Amino acid sequence: MTDWTAVATELAEEFAPRAAAVDREGRFPVENIERMQEAGYLSSVVPVELGGGGADLATFAACQQIIAGACASTALATNMHLFGIGAAAEGWHAGERAGEPILQAVAGGTVVGGSLTDAATGLNVRTSSTPARPVEGGYVVSGRKSFCSLAPALQFFWGTAADTETGALLLFGLPRETPGLSFVDTWDTMSMRGTGSWDVLFDDVFVPAQAVQRGTAPGEELVWDAERERPFAWFAVSVAAVYLGIARAATRLTYERARTRTVTGAALPTAHRPDQVYGAAEIELALRPAEAMLRDTIARRAAGEVLPPEDLQALKHVAVAAASSAVDRCVRMVGGHGIFRTLPLERHYRDVRAGQFHPPSPDTAAETIGKAVLGIDLGATPRWPAE
Ligand SMILES: Cc1cc2nc3c(=O)[nH]c(=O)nc-3n(C[C@H](O)[C@H](O)[C@H](O)COP(=O)(O)OP(=O)(O)OC[C@H]3O[C@@H](n4cnc5c(N)ncnc54)[C@H](O)[C@@H]3O)c2cc1C
Repeated sequence: MTDWTAVATELAEEFAPRAAAVDREGRFPVENIERMQEAGYLSSVVPVELGGGGADLATFAACQQIIAGACASTALATNMHLFGIGAAAEGWHAGERAGEPILQAVAGGTVVGGSLTDAATGLNVRTSSTPARPVEGGYVVSGRKSFCSLAPALQFFWGTAADTETGALLLFGLPRETPGLSFVDTWDTMSMRGTGSWDVLFDDVFVPAQAVQRGTAPGEELVWDAERERPFAWFAVSVAAVYLGIARAATRLTYERARTRTVTGAALPTAHRPDQVYGAAEIELALRPAEAMLRDTIARRAAGEVLPPEDLQALKHVAVAAASSAVDRCVRMVGGHGIFRTLPLERHYRDVRAGQFHPPSPDTAAETIGKAVLGIDLGATPRWPAE
């Protein structure tokens, strides 16, 4: 069995030296994706029986932490391929065979990316403002979606649209070369500049009925079971891993600098000053509980638990918030040199800020967690009743 963390370490060593240029130029690091393909990393989570690497969630999370520390954009972009494939692989082991064709395609080298985000409606993945008009044999989809990471490299796209007659939310998958489907480079951002998270255009795209993987009718009660939990769990765990990976890269740099920098007139390195000691402690007190929560989430799932939405959302929220505050504190410890582009710290500082925008956002996580502990049904309407 391949040692995937060793593969990730090797890839990270290759990616780190070019991460600054990728960020500076805001370019998609196609060479990193090609190297990951060559190394089998993009099919690491596919079952061995289907030609993949057999990596489980714990291994995947460890690998993504390593890659994120070198090039956060590469880790985050490939996360959008790997988390869904990993969830499908876990389902395959549980006897669900619907995902087998895509798992086989990925084992054969297909890169998958998708967008659930409508330009008009934002983050609410329970709905879509992209219209899908029912026609003979399927739907015709038109409109625009945004934030499609990996857009420059993907060969298979998945996304959501709403049935214009029933309002049902449809999840569908299409090959990149589908007529009318195109990708537009709109990605000029402060953070995660190398993720290639372009817009997706649908110009009367025909989606055959068999390409629609799932439909959810409006008002339909959603059952939270193992099958439904899987993609959310793989997403929450891997997003937590990516952002904690960025924070750990920042701490390595910061602690090393404190241990080795002696300012004029001082007898000992700055690590001996109270501001550095307390700063390092503050960072550890933020990161260690989040890292423990990540390990605990993985362990509970490995023991067979199906985690409730509030636990998964709490993990994502806690990890991203801890990573962000830890990197802030790193910049304060390093001081003014922390904002120079000669150090990767300012890139970590910008990249880590993107974490809050992945679902659930801080406000939606708070709603889920608060309602769960107060015994309020999350699906109840109206969402916020008057007194
Ligand atoms: C680097 C990066 C890569 C990404 N890659 C992908 C990808 O590959 N595929 C993909 O599908 N998506 C991707 N996303 C998109 C992400 O999942 C979000 O959909 C996207 O950031 C849009 O969110 P928004 O904040 O604009 O949403 P909006 O819904 O416009 O939210 C704006 C603000 O309002 C708040 N808000 C909105 N509704 C409510 C409510 N009802 N109650 C309380 N607060 C509310 C939100 O919490 C947020 O703070 C990516 C995002 C980033 C940053």
